[in-house]
Amino acid sequence: MVVNSFQNTVIQKVLIANRGEIALRIVRACRELGIKTLAVYSEADAQSLHVQLADEAICIGGPKGADSYLRADRIIAAAEIGNVDAIHPGYGFLSENAKFAAQCEACNIKFIGPKSKSIEMMGDKSVAKDTVRKAKVITVPGSDGPLSNENEAIKIARRIGYPVIIKAVAGGGGRGMRIAHNDVSLAKEFNVAKNEAEKAFGNGSVYLEKYIEKPRHIEFQILADSHGKTIHLGERDCSVQRRHQKLIEESPSPFLTPALRKEMGKAAIRAAEAAQYQNAGTIEFLVDAKGNYYFIEMNTRIQVEHPVTEECTGIDLIKQQILIANGEKLPFDQSDITFTKHAIECRINAEDPAKNFAPSPGTIGLYYAPGGHGVRVDSHAYSGYTIPPYYDSMIGKLICFGSTRKIALERSYRALSEYLIRGIKTTIPLHKAIMSDPTFMEGKATTAYMEDFFARTPSELFTQENTRL
Ligand code: ADP
Repeated sequence: MVVNSFQNTVIQKVLIANRGEIALRIVRACRELGIKTLAVYSEADAQSLHVQLADEAICIGGPKGADSYLRADRIIAAAEIGNVDAIHPGYGFLSENAKFAAQCEACNIKFIGPKSKSIEMMGDKSVAKDTVRKAKVITVPGSDGPLSNENEAIKIARRIGYPVIIKAVAGGGGRGMRIAHNDVSLAKEFNVAKNEAEKAFGNGSVYLEKYIEKPRHIEFQILADSHGKTIHLGERDCSVQRRHQKLIEESPSPFLTPALRKEMGKAAIRAAEAAQYQNAGTIEFLVDAKGNYYFIEMNTRIQVEHPVTEECTGIDLIKQQILIANGEKLPFDQSDITFTKHAIECRINAEDPAKNFAPSPGTIGLYYAPGGHGVRVDSHAYSGYTIPPYYDSMIGKLICFGSTRKIALERSYRALSEYLIRGIKTTIPLHKAIMSDPTFMEGKATTAYMEDFFARTPSELFTQENTRL
């Protein structure tokens, strides 16, 4: 029997403007709510699970993102043909594209995310910093806005002190960042960063921040409804990163004290309110060893790592996104939110950790996902699935949880030992090595952790594949 909690509501059919595991995750949430789904897909994804499991599917173009998942015009056309009430953008692709959100608004299709003006405000990282500063949220010291030339950059760097980091105003995915330790390297890196930003984001504006050494990346999950209520669902510690991209996330953070959690949670709510934010969003902070915390950016969409918050709090974030877009009130207050579990997520990427994470696309021979108590796998992979070379290399997420961090760690190691993906290289052996590494086990990883790990760990230890079956 389908339990439809939406019988008297507006959203009855959703177009999923994404692919891979997040498209599947959205299909699952919609199905439980009794909402019909329309998948859109590129020619490279015809065999994808999200296409097979959605109620309907429409091919929208060629394999490259620019010919399909980034084609707002084709997605809106598919939405009209399919007669949907709403579009869920997932993460990446058009999820933080204010123009696309505005187009949906104009076509009377609900965009399952914030209003376009909030995306615009927080999408420009230097405007975002200005906005939250006005709400008394501390930001990393740096330039007040985009820099016009290297001399201006040098003037500011001398004032705040080296090292500094140059970042793209339109940046994302860990790209477009450059660190400089003195005037000479700053003058050089300034122009390299500008060119890179222009190429990657079509916007060459860059700004400057103090480079915080060995911080933790700690972010707060926000939910805000359209009736003025904004709450947070605690934090995720995403300090284990490679090339400024997250690899492992957990909740709660082993670093935060209850007092600091409370204070940062309040700051995160103030930041979201300053952007008049609605729906699910994330406020990202860097936290130094002394517990000083600095806002770096807001992500105006669902995050890859949202499941750790779901398992820690027991709240289904994708369902909440849909309910909020439907105009409903949040069914809980801040005081109702409790953190009863510890959850750890390992990103399973089709990459070779021994070769600087070079992509490893291809056909998966055998695929066997772990299960059992406290184990969740969000993945679109299966035996015989061919990973297309056109997209992100993430093919799944392993989320393990339990009543304590120790249990979540032991469970992660156990589940990783069961996980079999034959035919391609993956990050599974690396995750196993990290789950049994004393620094990580003691909860001491900062964003400098991976570099240190690789410097002291022989590669056999993070390339050894599981040999069972
Ligand atoms: P993106 O939007 O590309 O993900 P972020 O601003 O979120 O970029 O930063 C990604 C990561 O880069 C952070 O988690 C952190 O590891 C590093 N980083 C960013 N800004 C700084 C900074 N000012 N000091 C030190 N590390 C930084």
